[in-house]
Amino acid sequence: MATPRIEITLGDITTEDVDAVVNAANSSLLGGGGVDGAIHAAAGPDLLAECRRVRASDYPDGLPTGRAVITGAGRMPARHVVHTVGPNRHAGQTDPALLESCFRESLQVADEAGCRSVAFPAISAGVYGWDVHEVARVAVRTVQAASCENVDLVRFVLFDKRSEDAFQLALG
Ligand code: ADP
Repeated sequence: MATPRIEITLGDITTEDVDAVVNAANSSLLGGGGVDGAIHAAAGPDLLAECRRVRASDYPDGLPTGRAVITGAGRMPARHVVHTVGPNRHAGQTDPALLESCFRESLQVADEAGCRSVAFPAISAGVYGWDVHEVARVAVRTVQAASCENVDLVRFVLFDKRSEDAFQLALG
């Protein structure tokens, strides 16, 4: 058991050649905008079909905020997608423990699936309205507190320079 090393990069997470890409999904698991839309567009229809099955069999009321579930990755270079539902600040979800849970649970399900490398976006820093600096602090401290059997690399893949700077600052 060890703490994964952290990398920070600017780019499009759908092109990452890692074992698992984390998706900032919504509770429906049926796709949405932002990184969720980009992941479904890149992965193709197999991903949506698998998400529908997971939703119907395991989460008929939707995946709760802070939880994570793993699927295949369709046509993306990654092997898996870990779908997690970040807290929505516009809906009053302001507790950092919810965001911490997203990073912790995503890492845990990827680790249990035998993944060695995991790429995360800035969960909740887009449509869900969290300040990217707070997301970065929570993300870095949660990964640094984690202990994994298989995951030895966590790469934060940021879509713009401001987010990349926020994560670099949080990493110190
Ligand atoms: P949320 O609803 O959790 O806020 P969003 O998808 O709206 O999720 O935004 C989360 C973050 O993902 C934002 O910082 C956004 O800029 C970023 N993002 C959007 N598309 C991509 C992509 N293709 N790769 C990596 N990050 C992305």
